[in-house]
Amino acid sequence: MKPQGIVVLGATGSIGTNTLDVVARHPERYRVVALAAHRQVDRLFDQCRQFRPVFAVMVDEQAASALRLRLNEAGLPVEVLTGVHALEMVATLPEADMVMAAIVGAAGLPSALAAARAGKRILLANKESLVVAGQLFMSAVREGGATLLPVDSEHNAIFQSLPDGYLGSLEQAGVRKIILTASGGPFRQLSSAELHGVTPAQACKHPNWVMGQKISVDSASLMNKGLEVIEAHWLFNAPADNIDVVVHPQSVVHSMVQYRDGSVVAQLGSPDMRTPIAYAMAWPERIDAGVASLDFFALSNLTFERPDLERFPCLKLAFEALRSGGDAPAVLNAANEVAVAAFLNGQIGFMGIPELVEQALGRFDLSASATLDALLEKDREVRSSLEARLPL
Ligand code: NAD
Ligand code: MG
Repeated sequence: MKPQGIVVLGATGSIGTNTLDVVARHPERYRVVALAAHRQVDRLFDQCRQFRPVFAVMVDEQAASALRLRLNEAGLPVEVLTGVHALEMVATLPEADMVMAAIVGAAGLPSALAAARAGKRILLANKESLVVAGQLFMSAVREGGATLLPVDSEHNAIFQSLPDGYLGSLEQAGVRKIILTASGGPFRQLSSAELHGVTPAQACKHPNWVMGQKISVDSASLMNKGLEVIEAHWLFNAPADNIDVVVHPQSVVHSMVQYRDGSVVAQLGSPDMRTPIAYAMAWPERIDAGVASLDFFALSNLTFERPDLERFPCLKLAFEALRSGGDAPAVLNAANEVAVAAFLNGQIGFMGIPELVEQALGRFDLSASATLDALLEKDREVRSSLEARLPL
């Protein structure tokens, strides 16, 4: 079998490095065509040395120059590209059979969309693409003849728990509910009063998963689960009423599908992103992901609780945005990205995140943008207007 070409967007991040870990286990199956990241020169250089891609993208220009220099010195024949358009270019290369979309935030949308239009097999980690532009993204996948495989562990679990060849009708598949599990994050047991005082360092220390900063804060506020509800809506054509969230602190049951006949099908495993990554890479086959088997005798109890929407209003806001439709999810996402950055920067407190998101949903026009350009313009407008009002 000829190795399949893979492009990794967001190569230096948590998902990117886990993806390359899986690639390294199967050199006969995968060949890295391009690696792309924002500005982490050292890490991308090491990855270039190990995986010898044809192209390396550093979106930041200075970082690109630095990388070029280092690759030249090392005599490595990798072509370095820069700028946001380079992301779209590598996402559509003819040699790319699959594209791992693992850039964080709405910044990942244009390249993921380009891969969809080019009919690639898209391994989607960047949930924000679907939150911001679900309708456009799903049409691009259909029209481009792309294959969309969810990498987000919950959606990967649901994909595995739905019938093979699921065609986008819960009704036809006999599904009553899609049940997303949530770990509850590091602050699950804190009171409202305590939540006001938590620090970025505490928020970034997730009990079960090691992830990038943005998604770690999202997990702590439960906005991550909110974004995932919207992601599930688009991926599985599921109305908000058919999506439930259950807090399951052990993160062993990665999500479930409840059927009409009373059956519940779930996917279980160790909390290690290499499992859903490898599944998406090899589907419908299964390959070694370097993940240890689940040891049932070593497991503590598996417990389940109702999410508390009072203490964690972000989840409620995301459900509301999904129900409002139009650009509400895009506004929610833009406001959340601004709020998370401001929290990490010490400009606002943790509970300032839901506050800012709620204000934004009340203040901006939520009617649906007709085109991608209009949507991106709205995204920029929300960001700049909120950023201008932040305390320094
Ligand atoms: P991360 O912060 O560890 O890595 C982000 C990557 O994106 C880096 O390679 C960075 O260079 C790149 N990047 C950032 N801004 C960019 C920009 N403007 N242009 C181009 N590249 C840019 O993040 P992560 O935890 O790997 O998460 C990546 C995506 O995967 C997010 O959308 C996240 O929600 C999703 N996801 C992550 C996990 C996880 O376990 N980490 C699980 C599920 C879903
Ligand atoms: Mg997830």
